[in-house]
Amino acid sequence: MVSIIHGSVPKVQGQAWQSELKSAFRCPKKLLSYLELDPERYLAGAKRGHQLFQTVVPLSFAKRIEKSNPHDPLLLQVLPTEQETALIPSYSPDPLQENNYSPVKGLLHKYHNRVLFITSGNCAVNCRYCFRRHFPYDENNPGKTGWLKAIDYIKNHSEIDEVILSGGDPLSLKDSALDWLIQRLETVAHLKYLRIHSRFPVMIPSRITDGLIDVLRKTRFISTLVIHSNHPHEISDSVSTALLKLRDSGITVLNQGLLLKNINDSSEILIDLSHRLYQSGVLPYYLHLFDPVQGAAHFDTTKEKAKTLIEEMMRKLPGYLVPKLAYEEPGRAYKVTLTPFN
Ligand SMILES: *Cc1c(COP(=O)(O)O)cnc(C)c1O
Ligand code: SF4
Repeated sequence: MVSIIHGSVPKVQGQAWQSELKSAFRCPKKLLSYLELDPERYLAGAKRGHQLFQTVVPLSFAKRIEKSNPHDPLLLQVLPTEQETALIPSYSPDPLQENNYSPVKGLLHKYHNRVLFITSGNCAVNCRYCFRRHFPYDENNPGKTGWLKAIDYIKNHSEIDEVILSGGDPLSLKDSALDWLIQRLETVAHLKYLRIHSRFPVMIPSRITDGLIDVLRKTRFISTLVIHSNHPHEISDSVSTALLKLRDSGITVLNQGLLLKNINDSSEILIDLSHRLYQSGVLPYYLHLFDPVQGAAHFDTTKEKAKTLIEEMMRKLPGYLVPKLAYEEPGRAYKVTLTPFN
C-alpha cells in the first residue's frame, strides 16, 4: 500500500521505523512466548481473536509490557482473546454508520468544515478495541488516483477548511508519500488546517524522523498531530523525546484516549496520563467513550463511571489537563461531550 507513489518522488529506503514495523509480532504464539505467558492458558483464545483481527504488536511497545503479567494494561490492549468472538446484538461491525458519509472512496465527510481522509489501512499496532476493526479498508484504499478524486471533492466544497489524515494510520505512509499528498492538498485554496491522527509516535517513536518534521514544518498549513494514548506506561522515555521534538518544531500535539475497562478506568491512571503527556509537550484533547463495536464489548464501561472519573480529574487537575469526555452518535455532525452534570 505504501508503494503506490511512483516516479516523481525520491525513494527513502530502510528507515528504522520501517524495519520495526516489518518485524512487529504478527503471531500470537511468538508474542506470548516473548511475554512469558503460558501458551496452555492463552494461546487457543488468542488464535481465535487473531482470526477475526490480526495480531500486530511492535517490539518497542511489547518491551513496555510487564512480563508474565496477564493483567498488564498495555497487554490487554493488544493481545487477541476468546472474548472477541462474542456476538452481542447492540455491538455492531459499523457502530457509527460511517459508510453513509463517504461521498468518495477514502473520504468521510460527516462534520461541516472538516473531512477525514483515509490514507492507509495499516497501523503500527492492532488495538483490540479498534472501532474500525471491521472497516473495509480494501475498498476504501484507492491509492493515488483515489486521493486525487478525494482532493477534487474537497476543491468543490469550499466549506471544508481542515483535512484530517486518518486511517488506519497515516504515518504508515513514507515521508515522501505524505509530502506528495500534502503538497496536493495545499493547492486547495480554502484549506487552512492539516491534522494527522496517528498512534505511531506512541507505538514506534522512531517514526518521528527529521524528514517527517521537515514535511510538517514546510507546509503552509497550520498542523496538529493528534496522538492516541490510553495509559501512562505507554509514554516511555523515547516516546516522550519524540513528542517533545515535534512540539519544539512548532507542531501542536494533542492526545485522544479511549476509556477502557480494566485498562484505564481509574482516575489515578488518567491523572497520571495527563501529567505524563503534558511533561512530553502534549495536551489532552478527548477521552472517548467506547464505540459499541462487535468483538470488543469486554472493554466497555458506563457513562456514569466515565462522569465520576472526569469529576475526579476536574478536582485534581488544571482545566487544560482535563480531556473532553466525548462520544459519537451516528448521524450527529459533532461529538457529544459529557460533563459530570449532564
Ligand atoms: C472525530 C471526527 C472528526 C474530528 O472531530 P473533531 O471534534 O474536530 O476532533 C471529523 N470527522 C469525523 C467523521 C469524526 O468522527
Ligand atoms: S491505531 Fe487506531 S486505527 Fe489503528 S488499530 Fe489502533 S485504534 Fe484502530
